[in-house]
Amino acid sequence: MTIIRSLPLIHTLFFLCLCLINSSVYAATPIQITNDSEIKLEQFEMAYFVDKSENMPFEQVQGQNFTKSSNRLSLGTKSKTTWIKIQLHNVDKNTQKLYLHHPYAYHNSKVELYEVEQGVLSNVRVLDMDKKETQQWMYRGSAVFDFTLQPNQQKTLFVKSLSFSHQWFALNIYDENQSKRALLGQFTNIALVVGMLLALIIYNFLLFFSSRLKEHFYYACYLVSGGFWIALSYGLFADLFNIFGSVTIIWHLSLVTMPFFLLLFMINIFETKKKYPIEHWALVAVLILLVINFIHGLFDIVAALDYSSTLAAIMMLASLSVSLSMLIRRHPMALFFLIGHGLFVAFSTLAVLFYKGIAEFNYVNSHGVGIGIALEALVLSLIIAYRIRTLEKLKSTQADLQLLASTDPLTKLFNRRHFNSAAVQHLDLAEQTKQTSSIALIDIDHFKSINDTYGHTLGDKSIKCVANIIKNQSRQEDILARYGGEEFIILMPNTNLDDAFILIERIRKKLESTTIEIDTNQSIQLTISAGIAEVNTQDLNLQEAINQADKALYKSKNNGRNQSQLFKE
Ligand code: GH3
Ligand code: MG
Ligand code: MG
Repeated sequence: MTIIRSLPLIHTLFFLCLCLINSSVYAATPIQITNDSEIKLEQFEMAYFVDKSENMPFEQVQGQNFTKSSNRLSLGTKSKTTWIKIQLHNVDKNTQKLYLHHPYAYHNSKVELYEVEQGVLSNVRVLDMDKKETQQWMYRGSAVFDFTLQPNQQKTLFVKSLSFSHQWFALNIYDENQSKRALLGQFTNIALVVGMLLALIIYNFLLFFSSRLKEHFYYACYLVSGGFWIALSYGLFADLFNIFGSVTIIWHLSLVTMPFFLLLFMINIFETKKKYPIEHWALVAVLILLVINFIHGLFDIVAALDYSSTLAAIMMLASLSVSLSMLIRRHPMALFFLIGHGLFVAFSTLAVLFYKGIAEFNYVNSHGVGIGIALEALVLSLIIAYRIRTLEKLKSTQADLQLLASTDPLTKLFNRRHFNSAAVQHLDLAEQTKQTSSIALIDIDHFKSINDTYGHTLGDKSIKCVANIIKNQSRQEDILARYGGEEFIILMPNTNLDDAFILIERIRKKLESTTIEIDTNQSIQLTISAGIAEVNTQDLNLQEAINQADKALYKSKNNGRNQSQLFKE
């Protein structure tokens, strides 16, 4: 809404007209103050003069050639001391009490107002952002100076704007009512953007703490830097906390940490280190430049900010090229990234041109970085969502594969390999709790003859039937597996030899009394032999116990089959 509202056609036309009639020397007619019910001057003609010496006395400034301009100006970093001249004429019969607003004063170091009547300096006010006693003209980030115009009086206002680095400002003139309105809700749009970023920050930190995936951390840090810089540069800190002046200048380093974290995010999501070495080194090179700029900034922030917009351009060029290259290589996340980052680059380019004093002062240009970050953050959230989905898919595939690798395809029981690891895991636990466990080996009797008589396929079918009976007769906690061809193994936790014997006998008897239908008109009767051994808790050796169960099984076979035997020393 605000973006659309801020692009009035009239403003653009006004600006174009100004450019057309722009003569270098200001000799315009004064702004006429009439008896309109409301005075709200947000688009008017003024003039500026850049004092390169930075210490020209006012008397001398008055005589300089001023350049005609609109009431919004961006002059780059080479115009740190700039003078503005506004001529006013009250054509009304009444005295007018008016307010000169400088809505971006929070980003200046000083703002001074000189009132001149008929060539005589009548009033001087100096607002120094670092001096508490002069801050009476500062209100929620804006400088507000009141002044009066007697009936038919002409006045020239000279405003001296001193900036820390980039010079950009707007001046507006209001009556009392309009002045109050302008000050209220000036930063609502910024607060909304910062609020949105804050939600994304919390969400990504939570994702990082739960998943430990670095990209969430980098993304959150990127948003912290971006959100912080937006709050700083677009006046939210000044508005909410009354923080401005030289203490805040060093905070502009967040403009350097922001791309730093974005590049780390790129390196992570595209896995450039592993997969794309050329792109990786391009990104690392820019990272190094950013680190140098950051360190320089710690010592001399003004000098570092001087070339930070050039560095931003290099960074955007590199990140765009890498994301384009990712798109060509059909990286699944490249398109999202390119759209998101493209929006950031497009709006930030407008901002860079604005800060350099090349692009006009309008809402979009002056808030370009903020708009870019907000749009990019939203689109990049899709990448985060995509990554989460991919990882979820991968996890479930891995679980499927694990299950596949641990089960026997015919009987759906565990296979021997899984049994061994599951049994070892269980016995480790049993050792701590001093539990007794038992193990049983079960082998189908005379199975060769089943294969010989009915064929291998029906043989398989009957192995499956036996497996089902074992499964149904055993308990939840028992660990079952197909140990070999027609051999099964059962580990019975917390079960002594006698109880194990009862359980295995139950299985054996169940099978003995079951007729297995292997075909529509054929059925067979099968029996099993079993050997049972106790697992020694002092000296837990799985293989030893299996060998003992095998010996008992051998005994069952020798004793005539279809029976269970316990291993005894
Ligand atoms: P015993 O009573 O001594 O155990 O006699 P047996 O014939 O069962 O002898 P043994 O256990 O040594 O032989 C197992 C036979 O089971 C050998 C093989 O033909 C058969 N067999 C092993 N695995 C499979 C399988 O997956 N499917 C089928 N159909 N048969 C198998
Ligand atoms: Mg066998
Ligand atoms: Mg057998």
